[in-house]
Amino acid sequence: MTKATLKDRIAKLRDTFIARLPAQMEQIEAIYQRLLAGREMPTDPEELHRLFHGLKGSSASFGMTELNPAAKCAEEEARQILQQGNPGPAQLERELGRLIAALYHIVHGNDDRSEPMSSGYELLEEPANRRKGPPLVYLCDDDPVQAEHLATQISCFGYRIDTFINTSVLIEAIYRQRPAAIILDIVFPDNPDEGLHTLTIIQERNSPEIPTILLSGRTDFAARLRAVQAGSAAYYVKPVKVQDLVDTLDHLTSTVQPAPFRILVVDDEPEISQYHALILEDAGMDTLVVNRPEEIIERISQFNPDLVLMDMYMPACNGKDLALVIRQIPAFVSLPIVYLSSETDEARQFSALRAGADGFLTKPIEPDRLIADVTVRAERMRTLRGLMLRDSLTGLYNHTTIMQMLSSASEAAARNNRTLSFAMIDIDHFKSVNDRYGHPVGDQVLLALARILQQRLRKSDAVGRYGGEEFSLVLPDTNDEQARRIVDSLREGFATVRFFTDTESFSCTFSAGISTFPDLPGNLGAAADQALYQAKKAGRNRVVCTGEVCH
Ligand code: GH3
Ligand code: MG
Ligand code: MG
Repeated sequence: MTKATLKDRIAKLRDTFIARLPAQMEQIEAIYQRLLAGREMPTDPEELHRLFHGLKGSSASFGMTELNPAAKCAEEEARQILQQGNPGPAQLERELGRLIAALYHIVHGNDDRSEPMSSGYELLEEPANRRKGPPLVYLCDDDPVQAEHLATQISCFGYRIDTFINTSVLIEAIYRQRPAAIILDIVFPDNPDEGLHTLTIIQERNSPEIPTILLSGRTDFAARLRAVQAGSAAYYVKPVKVQDLVDTLDHLTSTVQPAPFRILVVDDEPEISQYHALILEDAGMDTLVVNRPEEIIERISQFNPDLVLMDMYMPACNGKDLALVIRQIPAFVSLPIVYLSSETDEARQFSALRAGADGFLTKPIEPDRLIADVTVRAERMRTLRGLMLRDSLTGLYNHTTIMQMLSSASEAAARNNRTLSFAMIDIDHFKSVNDRYGHPVGDQVLLALARILQQRLRKSDAVGRYGGEEFSLVLPDTNDEQARRIVDSLREGFATVRFFTDTESFSCTFSAGISTFPDLPGNLGAAADQALYQAKKAGRNRVVCTGEVCH
């Protein structure tokens, strides 16, 4: 979305809001006439307050400086009527007169068209294109054997590595194609300063800087300080552990955008809810607007939001009641609810918060503030949810989650007549890794395999830690031959990785069993487990599909 279109869309919302004003004015006048005549309906005072309150909030958000103070006074008046009964027509008439005059001006052309709140609000850049293929990393080391060795290891973790033994060739290559990161050995025998000097040149000529990891033989402070000053992103003393290097590369090159936050905007006023939704959408979030409170339960279940932005005063029920209704449903007990209302009275805000809501934002709100507040809370929600669904060591889906995913993927495959494969992976002789090198080293192996599985698979695939050293993959739209090819290449990649302890190095293998729908209509989990058992029995470090003869 370009800047102009967001502005245009907000301006359109404002026009719609203005176009609806005469009808609201009529409603207000009708109530007012009933109040004057002493023939009011029991709901009239509340309705009047809600109408004024809505006008106050929307006029502020749309920057209507004449209407806003008038609506504010009228709302105050209506509140008094609500709390103490009719305070006498004279006072109400005065406030109403002001409000009607303001409305009249707006409706009849002499409109209050000051800039809406979005002025000065800088739009975010278009989200960066998703990464295509594995990230490119340049590795420069004067020792070709060492360079090749390291390159092979790193490429197992989903990186494309080009190696260089000469710094000037490296610099030229950067001009031709900018890499996602550089790994640079800084000590070149002919000129010990060559590495740092090269880094300085690279950083001077490239903007933004290219994240560069330095490899060095020196551990002293002076060497580290010079590396920082030359613009290095990380510094490793050789011999470097590939896992550490890959962790850093992951961090430095991460362009994977997390899925957008999903925000449900509940407000009875269509324009103001659209306005807030637009601001959030423009910051990259997904939104769904609900204008009718009675639809909320159904919409929450369908939309599965990370956060609900809730208006306080709506017809039929208020925000506090609606929050309580949401909280009655066990699945939504921890869903963040944030009020967005022009209610400024702290006691009333507090009372609304006691219904189990997480925050109170007041209208009008600066777009940046709205985005920041919503982001912080939605992020926390994602983290908490992630903790429930994921395994704490590897970050993969935990046993319960991956089995639920298998079950829903099985149903979908049967329903849509598609193929589905399920793979069970078990590290070979893992107990002896722990026994020989210790549990922490064993954990490194689990992490490395987790990362390989995650990086090599498609977005539509799901990877879980089934248990201890067992992993499972749910591969939709994949037949047994395809699944075998995929898992076999993962197996080869994993077997290539060398793990280093302080004194030794070793590598690991895994065995895998695959079951596929519709070849096998029954329980894919049990069948894959059976195939895995066959793979172990046949000698390990192999992949077996259900029903096939081992080879
Ligand atoms: P096989 O080839 O038959 O699979 O032999 P194995 O040794 O891999 O199988 P076994 O099931 O006998 O041993 C699994 C080991 O995994 C035992 C357990 O200590 C270890 N393990 C389970 N969870 C973890 C963990 O989180 N970290 C570490 N380091 N080890 C773990
Ligand atoms: Mg096991
Ligand atoms: Mg095992």
